[in-house]
Amino acid sequence: MKRKRVVVLGATGSIGESALKVARDIPERMEIVGMAANRNAEKLAAAANKVRPEAVCLIDETKVDILRRALEYEPKIFVGETGLREIACLANADMVLVAIVGTGGLRPALAAIEAGKDLAVASKEILVMAGEAVTEAARKRGVKILPVDSEHNAIFQCLDGRVSEVRRIILTASGGPFRKTSAKEFVDLTPEQALKHPTWNMGPKITIDSATLFNKGLEMIEAHWLFGVEMKRVEVVIHPQSIVHSMVEFADGSTLAQLSYSDMCFPIQYAVTWPERVPNTLPPLDFRKLSKLEFEVPRYDDFPALNLARRAGETGGTLPAVMNAANEIAVAAFLDRQVKFPRIWQTVEEVMDRHTSVAHPDLDAILAADQWAREEARHLIGG
Ligand code: NDP
Repeated sequence: MKRKRVVVLGATGSIGESALKVARDIPERMEIVGMAANRNAEKLAAAANKVRPEAVCLIDETKVDILRRALEYEPKIFVGETGLREIACLANADMVLVAIVGTGGLRPALAAIEAGKDLAVASKEILVMAGEAVTEAARKRGVKILPVDSEHNAIFQCLDGRVSEVRRIILTASGGPFRKTSAKEFVDLTPEQALKHPTWNMGPKITIDSATLFNKGLEMIEAHWLFGVEMKRVEVVIHPQSIVHSMVEFADGSTLAQLSYSDMCFPIQYAVTWPERVPNTLPPLDFRKLSKLEFEVPRYDDFPALNLARRAGETGGTLPAVMNAANEIAVAAFLDRQVKFPRIWQTVEEVMDRHTSVAHPDLDAILAADQWAREEARHLIGG
């Protein structure tokens, strides 16, 4: 199979760095032809100087001079939101890896689909907000959406296209740093404590989402859209070791699971090389060192994010976008020490309660609901 030419949106982030590592590990199968970041001009330039993609993009126009000065060659430079959509449609690219934190990946993802590029999706927010619009656009244009989130990549591997035979999709969750913390202590938890994830090394937003379990809630909705499985068939189990990345239970009661160490290079590589598997330098599991694999029922009452996400996913329409946007604002406020830890899900719930969901929303309705939820959340937080 030929080498895949990939544009990485979010190249300076945690997923972006892993993607660069995969490209170094399997250069005969993956070439990075475009790299985009938000405002970290120095880091983008340093990475581009090593990888030499034909195009780079920076959202923050005020930092473009820093980028130009730091580049040691002359790639095409795209700038701003328009530039992000342009680099997502780069003529020479086969695939766009969307690894932008937050909702900024939605428009470039839709642009890439329109341009006929396959999508590798790490940014779960875009499927939560606009799952119907994104999957429908991909179906119409005949492009593939390959999941990079480790759980969905695991499900994708186990499913192997046999969706009609599925009884349950079982998403595994590490449980985050507060798996064993009493709910009474939640009010005193600090951002530093919440940022210490026990098994994964990720960006700050998703790490806080792992602590509240909103990450798993977002993933339930993501799974519903990616695989076309009803919300009631999507379940969550706590698995503290993060070795089993998720499971699929089929109609005959057999369950398939995917296992590997917790390194995002595994799912990124599979999304790029699918349907093939190729050798790499990642460590295989050493079963002599794995002492145990544990599974627990989530503490639904103490971590309301899972029930809020189920409600959002089952209601559908604009409610998932509202939940996602309110959560983003509340997480940022928690990281800024404006609110206490439990205020994250309380804010989300209050904003969801105030929203009247619009069914089958188009992009404008989704973005309007997203904006409305941000303002409501800011108002509730008092910022
Ligand atoms: P990081 O915070 O580490 O990186 C975010 C990246 O997105 C940076 O490159 C940043 O650029 C860029 N960015 C931020 N805002 C914008 C914007 N508006 N437009 C363009 N680029 C932007 O995040 P992660 O890598 O942890 O996460 C990225 C996505 O992947 C998230 O949706 C997350 O949920 C998902 N994901 C992450 C996993 C992980 O292991 N990290 C696992 C599974 C999913 P700059 O550096 O310039 O700010």
